[in-house]
Amino acid sequence: MSSEDYVRRTAVTRLDIPESESSLLRETMQEWQNACQIAAERAWGSTTDATSVQSMAYDAVRDETDLKSQHSILATHRVADTLRSITEKNDRGWDAPKPQFTSPTVAYDQRSMSFFDDGTVSLATVETRVRATLRLPDNEDGYQQQFFENESWEVTQSTLHERDEAFFLHIGFKKTAESDRQQEYGTVLGVDLGIDNIAVTSTAQFFSGDELKHHRQELRRKRRRLKQTGTRSALRTLIHIENKERRIARDTLHRVANGVVAEAKRYCCDIIAFEALDDIRGRLPDGDMFHSWAFGRLIEYITYKARGQGIGITHVSPEYTSQRCAECGHVAEANRSSREQFLCQSCGASANADYNAAKNIGERAVRRVQQPTRRMSVSRYALKSGTVTPDEGFTPQDGRVRG
Ligand SMILES: [Zn+2]
Repeated sequence: MSSEDYVRRTAVTRLDIPESESSLLRETMQEWQNACQIAAERAWGSTTDATSVQSMAYDAVRDETDLKSQHSILATHRVADTLRSITEKNDRGWDAPKPQFTSPTVAYDQRSMSFFDDGTVSLATVETRVRATLRLPDNEDGYQQQFFENESWEVTQSTLHERDEAFFLHIGFKKTAESDRQQEYGTVLGVDLGIDNIAVTSTAQFFSGDELKHHRQELRRKRRRLKQTGTRSALRTLIHIENKERRIARDTLHRVANGVVAEAKRYCCDIIAFEALDDIRGRLPDGDMFHSWAFGRLIEYITYKARGQGIGITHVSPEYTSQRCAECGHVAEANRSSREQFLCQSCGASANADYNAAKNIGERAVRRVQQPTRRMSVSRYALKSGTVTPDEGFTPQDGRVRG
C-alpha cells in the first residue's frame, strides 16, 4: 500500500514533566538543532533523499552532538523533509536560503518514545529517558482519546515543542485507509540476493547484477593502475574515482530497491524476506568488499523504502535455501545442477536456481514469522501467478494483484 493509503492525524497534548528533567529535554532540543544544522550543511544543494542525507550526515551528527543513534537518524530524515519542501518552493520560483534550525523542538518515533497505560510517556534524551504525564482533557470527549482507544490508530512520528516554558507533544497517528477491512493474513515476498542476479523475487522478477559487476571491475582496474603509479596525486585521484564509482553504484542500488518494493506492492505483500546480511556476505568470495558494501546498502534502502509503504522486513536463516526444491521440499546438493540451474533429483522440477531460492526464502519466512506482528500473521508467500500456503498449496491469484 502506498503512503497515501494512510489516514494521518495529530493529537496535541501538554506534558507534565518534573522540573529536574526539563533540562534534559531542553538539552536534547539544543542538540537536535545542532544535528539538523550539521545535516543541512552537508546535504544542502546535493540531496533531499532521506537515506542519502542520513548516509552523508549520520557520522558527523553522532560525533559532534550528544544525540543517541535513533535521534541522529530522525534528525537527518527531518532535514531531508525540510530540504525537499524548500526545493519544491525554489522550483516554483522562490529563492529560499539554506534553512536555520532555531526552534525548540525534537522529533520522536516509536523507537524513541513509549506510551503507558497509566497515561505517561517515556521520551529518549541525550542521557536517560524521562517520564512525563500526558495532560489530556479530563473530559472523555477530548478528541485525543479516540486515537488512544481505537486500536486501528498507530503512533507514528511525533514532535515535542517547548512554548512559554511548557512542553507540548504533537503525537502523530496513522491508520491504513482500509484497516477496517484489513486482511487477517499477510503475504510474504521472498527475495534472494546474489552477484549474477543482484535480486530475484519469489514472483520471478529478476534484477541483473551486471551493472554492479561492471562497477566493481572498473574500480579494481583503476585501483591497480593508480597503485602502480603510487604518487600522492594518484592516491587523490583514486579516492575521487572510488567515490564516483560508489555514487553510480548507489544509484543502481536505489533502482533495484525501488523495483523490489514496487514488486511487493504489486503483489500486495506485507513483508519482504531476505537471508540475513551476514549469511549473504559469508557466501562472497574473499575480499569482495564491493559487493559486501552493496548488499548492506541494498538491504538498507529496501528496508527504508518498504517501511515508507507500510511493508515490513524479515530475515531468515539461509540453510539449504539453495539446495531445497521449492516444489517438493527435497533437499540435496545434487539438485543444484549448475550455478544457474536447479533440477530436483526427486520430482524433476527445474527452475532458475536463484528463483528457486527466493521461493524457499518466502516459505521459510512464512513458517518462521507465524507469530502475530501488528495483529497480523503471515500465512503465504507470493508467486507470479498466485500464492502458496505451506501444507495447503497453491492458490491462483484472484485479482488481488495491482497492475
Ligand atoms: Zn522437487
